[in-house]
Amino acid sequence: QAKIKGKGQVYEFQAGMETAARERHDLELDLRAALGRNELQIYYQPLFDVSGGITGFEALARWPHPVRGMIPPDRFIPLAEETGLIVPLGEWVLKTACTVAAGWQSDISIAVNLSPTQFQRVDLVNVVMKTLEETGLEPARLELEVTETLLMEDVPKALALVRDLRALGVRVALDDFGTGYSSLAYLHNFPFDKVKVDRSFINKITNDPNAWTIVESIIVMSHKLKLRVTAEGIETGAQLSMLTEHGCDEMQGFLLGRPMPEMQASRLIASLGDLRDAS
Ligand code: C2E
Ligand code: MG
Ligand code: MG
Ligand code: MG
Repeated sequence: QAKIKGKGQVYEFQAGMETAARERHDLELDLRAALGRNELQIYYQPLFDVSGGITGFEALARWPHPVRGMIPPDRFIPLAEETGLIVPLGEWVLKTACTVAAGWQSDISIAVNLSPTQFQRVDLVNVVMKTLEETGLEPARLELEVTETLLMEDVPKALALVRDLRALGVRVALDDFGTGYSSLAYLHNFPFDKVKVDRSFINKITNDPNAWTIVESIIVMSHKLKLRVTAEGIETGAQLSMLTEHGCDEMQGFLLGRPMPEMQASRLIASLGDLRDAS
C-alpha cells in the first residue's frame, strides 16, 4: 500500500516538474516573441535628494503579457538570464532609457540595471559608449547599477570593467547593498560612485535597532569612502526622516514615488521645470 502510494507521489512529482518545465518554456517563447515585437516597457521610478528635489529616475523593465497581465521583472529577468535573452533585453532597456532621458528638458540622471551576463560580455563598454553616442545622452547623466553577484565571478575583470565604464564618464552604483556575502570588501576595492542600501534593511530601520545600526554604519562608512548613499524602498515618513536626519544622500521608495510609465515621468519633470521657471 505504502509502496503504491509512494509510486503515485513520484508520478505526481514528475508531472509537476513537467508542467513547470513546460510553463517555463512557454514563458521563454513568449518573452522572445515580446522582445521581437517590441512589447516590453520601461517604468521610471523617481529618486530624491534631502530637500525633495528629483535627482533622477531608475529604469525598471515591465512585461505586459496579453494573458498573464503585467509580469514583474523578478519573474522574467532570471528567465532572461538563463536563456541568454538578457543580452538583447538589456541592450534594449539601455538604449530606450537613454533615448527617453536624452529627451527630458532637464539634467537629471537615468539609472539602468545591469545583469551579470551583460556584465560578463566583452563588449559592454563599447555597447555603453555607442549607446551614449547614438542617443546623445551626456555620460554624466547615466548611472549603471550593478550587484555583488556580478562582481564576484571574476574580480580583476569586474574591477577593470567598472574602471573602464567610469572612464567613459558614467557613474556606477552598487545595488541591493547588504544582501550579499562580502559586501564590505567590494565597497572599498571598487571605484563606485554610489551605494544603494537594500530595501530589506530600510523596511526594518524603525522597529529593529540592529537593522538601523547597520544602515547608520553603512552611511557613515560610505561617506568616509567618498561614496554617496541611496536608500531603497522607503515606505513610511518615519523611515524617511530617520534617513534624512542621518545624512542619507538620496531617497527612493513608494512613499515618494512609484515606478511610472514614461509619459507620467515626463509630465512630472515638465512640472518641475515649470516650478523652477516660476520662481
Ligand atoms: P532593483 O534594481 O533593486 O529595483 C528596485 C525595486 O524595488 C523595483 O522593483 C521597485 O519597484 C521596488 N521598489 C522601489 N521602492 C519600493 C518600495 O517602497 N516598496 C517596495 N515594496 N518596493 C519598492 P521591480 O521594478 O519589480 O524590479 C525588481 C528587480 O528586477 C530590480 O531590483 C532589478 O534587480 C531587476 N530589474 C528591473 N529592471 C531590470 C532591467 O532592465 N535589467 C536588469 N538586469 N534587471 C532589472
Ligand atoms: Mg536597481
Ligand atoms: Mg536595488
Ligand atoms: Mg532589489
